[in-house]
Amino acid sequence: MLRIRPEIERITPYRAGAGMEEIARRHGLSEVVKLASNENPYPPFPEVAEAIAAAAGGLNRYPEQGAGQLTAALSEATGVPPESLWCGAGSSELLTAAARALGGEDRSFVYPWPSFVMYRVNCLLGGARGLEVPLDADRRNDLEALLTAIREDTSMVVVCNPNNPTGTYRSAADLRDFLDRVPENVLAVVDEAYAEFAAAPDYGSAIDLAQERRNVIATRTFSKIYGLAGLRAGYVIGHPDTLTSLRKAQIPFSVNRLAATAAIAALRFPERVEERRRRNRQGVEFLSAALRERGIEFAPTEANFLWIRLGPDTPRILEDMERKGVLVRALAEEWTRVSIGSERENYRFLEVLDEVRGEAGRAAITANFSPSSRVGEQ
Ligand code: PMP
Repeated sequence: MLRIRPEIERITPYRAGAGMEEIARRHGLSEVVKLASNENPYPPFPEVAEAIAAAAGGLNRYPEQGAGQLTAALSEATGVPPESLWCGAGSSELLTAAARALGGEDRSFVYPWPSFVMYRVNCLLGGARGLEVPLDADRRNDLEALLTAIREDTSMVVVCNPNNPTGTYRSAADLRDFLDRVPENVLAVVDEAYAEFAAAPDYGSAIDLAQERRNVIATRTFSKIYGLAGLRAGYVIGHPDTLTSLRKAQIPFSVNRLAATAAIAALRFPERVEERRRRNRQGVEFLSAALRERGIEFAPTEANFLWIRLGPDTPRILEDMERKGVLVRALAEEWTRVSIGSERENYRFLEVLDEVRGEAGRAAITANFSPSSRVGEQ
């Protein structure tokens, strides 16, 4: 019998769900709309794809250790000095490295729940006890309760802002007040995977504070607004001394050559990123209005997904939707997370939702919307 660590055996393997090709084959569909993983509905910018192709010839060589070129490009784009930046294979890798650095048998991590599933997995990977703190009545991270949950043995507390899967956020003022009160020997991790989508005027990043304080880091990713989920690139902003310690828990060469090349190229087009943010917001508004018309409860979102309540019939509804080629994510009893797609995908989601809920819902879809006229969008 192999002596696998018991906490590793306790991890429920990440269930990604059947792929789009598999679903298409299974149900004989020509098109599948995937709104299940909070991905960007649009492909990488053409210049990014070209840069990746051009870099392929150099893959016999290891990438740059420490991702210096990507760090320099990020520094230029964000104004954060290079020594306050730390790059990795997606923000998941960086969150896991932090958990490895701060974990141990005699430690605990505090995090919100429901939230990003990796926080739970990282407790097991880091060998620390997980203290899960329920969201507040508005389905936001409950900052007061997170503070209260911090114990003598706590080494890390996580805030997800905006929160996955609810899309809710905490204001800059609330976040600052929270970070002011986190004990100095506890690392506060502010996961900002969806920060670029946030439009609320009182939303604010932890980036500034993370540079000043040794016990605060902010995590960001190229997987969401930059549309590079398939490559794996992310970064952390933090105090140089803190990052020096956390880097030790990371595997070498984790940012591969193609990921670094693509991320550097993507940073050259801030105006297109802004355009994607705007389109996402239009999708949020379109779907929110449609859900309101149908009397379906949902949480207000600042991200690229909506947390909606389809009720006790959820498993049957989602199964029927899958059969018709629309994939969303069931994450809690009665509640489902739907990623914002292209206009055409959002429309298709509503159409299929109406069909499977058995309502005469078609007429309720915003009357003058014509999906076929938008097919050519980037
Ligand atoms: N944080 C949150 C809140 C997420 O939802 C995700 C991805 N679903 C990540 C981090 C990780 O993203 P990546 O590893 O692709 O950067």
